[in-house]
Amino acid sequence: MEPDPEKSLRVALVSLGCSKNLIDSERMLAMLAEGGCVVGAPMDEADVIVINTCGFVEAARAESMDVLAEALEYKRRGSAKRVVVAGCVVNRDGTSLYEQAEGIDAIVGVNNRSEILAAVTGNARFTRCDDISENFKSQISNFKSDTDGLKSQISNFKFKFKIHSDAGRFRLTPRHTAYLRISEGCSQKCTFCTIPSIRGPFRSKSPDLILDEARELIADGAIELNIIAQDTTGYGRDLPGGWNLARLLRQLDSLDGARWIRLMYAYPRRFDDELIDTIAECERLIPYVDIPLQHISDGVLKRMGRQTTRSEIETLLDKMRSRIARIAIRTTFIVGFPGESDGEFAELLDFVEKFRFDAMGAFEYSPEGGTPAAMLDGAVSDEVKARRAERLMLAQQKIVFDANAAKAAAGERVQVLIDATDGEGRCVGRTFAQAPEIDGVCYLAEPGPIGSIVSAKIVGFDNYDLIAGMIDN
Ligand code: SF4
Repeated sequence: MEPDPEKSLRVALVSLGCSKNLIDSERMLAMLAEGGCVVGAPMDEADVIVINTCGFVEAARAESMDVLAEALEYKRRGSAKRVVVAGCVVNRDGTSLYEQAEGIDAIVGVNNRSEILAAVTGNARFTRCDDISENFKSQISNFKSDTDGLKSQISNFKFKFKIHSDAGRFRLTPRHTAYLRISEGCSQKCTFCTIPSIRGPFRSKSPDLILDEARELIADGAIELNIIAQDTTGYGRDLPGGWNLARLLRQLDSLDGARWIRLMYAYPRRFDDELIDTIAECERLIPYVDIPLQHISDGVLKRMGRQTTRSEIETLLDKMRSRIARIAIRTTFIVGFPGESDGEFAELLDFVEKFRFDAMGAFEYSPEGGTPAAMLDGAVSDEVKARRAERLMLAQQKIVFDANAAKAAAGERVQVLIDATDGEGRCVGRTFAQAPEIDGVCYLAEPGPIGSIVSAKIVGFDNYDLIAGMIDN
C-alpha cells in the first residue's frame, strides 16, 4: 500500500561522503518507505531530517556538522519536528553529539542503520551507536606495540559487526548504474585512517548474497555495476571455501544483463596474478582499476603502514599494463604525510610524471584523532601540503590533457554509456575509463537514450572531459 502523503511522515535524507555511505542511505530510505514514510522531501518541507554523515577526515566531518546545523535551524523554525544523525560521525563522536549540537533527537551508528525507522518515528531521544569506537581508537593508537591486543579487541566485539544485506534499496543513482558492496569494514593497518575504528574489521559478504543483490540491481535496470568496499582485494579471505575476489568477479561476469563491471578500491598488496588474468579475460569486467596507492616513496609507505614497497607497486602496475589490454588505471595519493621530505615528494612527482595514470587524485594529509599517524613527528605545514598537492595535480592535468588531445587527434573509437541529456539534444555519458562521480565525462553532440551504450568517435576535449560524435548506431 502506498503511504498516505497527508498522514505519513515526510522525510528528507541528506547523504554525504563516499559510495559506501550512499548505499547505506539507499538502504535506509527503502526501510523508511517500507515503514510508511514519504521519502525524498526537501529539507524545508520535511517533518524529519536525517543526515547520513561522513567522518572520514576532519573536512568531511566539518561539512557534516554544517549540514546538521542547517537541519537544526529548520527544527528551530518549526518546519521540521525531528533531526536524526546517522553514519560515520556518530561512530566517531558517539553520544557527545547531543552536547555538540543542541536539538538532535536521535543518533544511529553505521552498524545500527537497520534501526533508522525507530529513530525517525520515535518520540523520545533515541541512541543506537556502537559504543566501542573509543575502545578501538585507544587500541589503534597503541598499534605498533600491541597488534595482538587489537586482534583480540576485534574478536571480542565481533558480535557487534554483522554483515548487512544491501538488497531492497531506494536507489539514488541513475537506474542504469549502481554500486555493489562486497564487504564491510577494513582490517588493513594504514596509520592515517579512521575507517577501521568507524566501520569495524573486515567482513566479506557471502557470494550468494552478493550475486542476489547484483541480480536485483540488474532487474532494476542497472547495466553498470561498480564493485566497492573499503578493500575489495581482501574479498573472501575470511570466508570458507577458498573464495577470493577473482572467483567472485568471474561469477558476476556470468550474470546476464550486466554490461560493465568496474572494480573500485583495490588495495595493492593483495592484487595477484589471478586477479590480473581475470580482468584480462572476463568480458563484462571492464579494463578499469581504481587502486589507491597513497604514495610511492618507501619511507612514506612504511610510515603509512601500507605493507607494500615501491618495487612491488611498480611490478604490479607493469604487469597490469602489459597483460590487460587498454587498461585504465586510477589512483589517489596523499601529500604532506608526517615526515614527507622534499626528496620523498620529488620522488612521488617524478613517478606520477613517468607512469602517466589515466586518472589521479591528490589529497593533503589530515591528522585524525586516534590514528597512529597523528602522533608521528615531522608535521608538514599546511602551506607546503597545499603547494605539493597543487604541483602533483598540475602534473597530472598535463598528462590527462595531452592524452585527451591525442585521443581527439586520432579520432579514437569508444563506447559511451549515456548518463543524461541536457535538454538541448546533447548527451553526457562516460567511456569505460570514466567511473561515475570521480572521473571526467564524455559529451555527445547527438541525442540518445539514457542508459544505453553507443559507439562514438572522440573529436575533441574540454579539460578533463572528452567530446565525441556518435557513429554506426
Ligand atoms: S585500506 Fe587503509 S586507507 Fe583503505 S580503508 Fe583500510 S585502513 Fe583505511
